[in-house]
Amino acid sequence: MNSQKADKKLAEITVIGCGIAGITTAFHLGKKGYKVNLIDPTVNSEINNLSPKNGTQASLGVLMGNIYKRSKGRAFLLRNKSMKLWKEWLTEINYSESDFIFEKPLIKLASSEKEYQSMIELSNAKKKYGIEILDKNSLNFWNSIFETKLIGGLISHEDGRFNPIKLVKALMQSLDQIKINKIDKSVIKISKNSNLYDKRWKISLENNQSINQDFVVICSSLNSQKLLKPLGHEIHLEPILGQVFELELKDITSNWKEWPAILNYQSINFIHHNPNHMLVGATIERGTKASLLEKKEMLNLKKTAPKWMTTARISHEWSGIRARPKNEPAPMLKELETGLLINTGHYRNGILLGPACAEWIGLKIEGQ
Ligand SMILES: Cc1cc2nc3c(=O)[nH]c(=O)nc-3n(C[C@H](O)[C@H](O)[C@H](O)COP(=O)(O)OP(=O)(O)OC[C@H]3O[C@@H](n4cnc5c(N)ncnc54)[C@H](O)[C@@H]3O)c2cc1C
Repeated sequence: MNSQKADKKLAEITVIGCGIAGITTAFHLGKKGYKVNLIDPTVNSEINNLSPKNGTQASLGVLMGNIYKRSKGRAFLLRNKSMKLWKEWLTEINYSESDFIFEKPLIKLASSEKEYQSMIELSNAKKKYGIEILDKNSLNFWNSIFETKLIGGLISHEDGRFNPIKLVKALMQSLDQIKINKIDKSVIKISKNSNLYDKRWKISLENNQSINQDFVVICSSLNSQKLLKPLGHEIHLEPILGQVFELELKDITSNWKEWPAILNYQSINFIHHNPNHMLVGATIERGTKASLLEKKEMLNLKKTAPKWMTTARISHEWSGIRARPKNEPAPMLKELETGLLINTGHYRNGILLGPACAEWIGLKIEGQ
């Protein structure tokens, strides 16, 4: 069997890694009728952001698919495709136990005249995607929230957010329904069978067991490098950290009911929930350790933090690591050799791009 003509009923596929890249890939391939094994030591672990098991569980789940400057190129096409696919997937994902919804809209506030000008250009070019400019006369609420005089902003009616924990729970349930086989082990080696009659990929697991597969899709973030090196495929990924803080607000003076799903200001996302709680994230830092300096900078908003932020208490904080491709654009979507594919390098927008990347893998497996 090869990637040119895969018989759906017979092809066996292993997906390595159960972050959003692996889960969406497994979901897409499972729906198409393939026999899929999803392998990750954490695949049966509890899903929560109190102790996130991977980048996905640490994320904020924001989908900024439409507010994107470009209107062509790979990055645009992936975003565009994913926004459409998420709508379809929402009708297919099982969320009986996890009441997740796609929350909209997203509001972005300009922090400089230059940023506002580029927002005006974006809203002119992308009206059909539900993007509208907010001029300074419509910003009274936000002026009082941030104790400043804002120049302008924009609202993107079709962008928004999934609660990533609820999303992952619902997708995991859906994987059970379509009979994806979950294996809670680490993959320690991928090799090719040398048997004349069986040229499939051999996936060796930490418990000395192994399985032979027609296709392997590597979605194991930074660890993808280690798995590929012995096969002669050098890929280069660097760790990128993101932090999230949950603030318990002591000082809410006005009615905050009109807070959108996402408020983005000074490149920081603000998610208001439970009347007096606010999630604040995420920065992009090199390395693997959360930095106090980044934390301070994020929470004092370049010394312009309003009173509700300076008087708040951090009730919970966490961070997560993702993999950024070096010297090439993210994400890393490749067929490295027949039957060996990679879907990783999602250092941001992994949630957003999940369905489009899964579809790309599916097309490669179908030989298109
Ligand atoms: C704080 C923060 C905020 C973010 N906010 C957003 C956002 O708002 N919107 C958005 O779209 N994205 C956001 N992101 C980015 C998003 O989280 C990532 O793009 C995405 O989670 C990457 O998913 P992944 O599946 O590639 O990797 P991960 O979620 O890290 O999953 C990789 C998996 O591979 C498994 N694995 C590793 N090695 C092996 C092995 N040898 N065998 C088996 N399994 C293995 C690991 O156990 C892990 O579960 C954010 C990230 C962070 C940290």
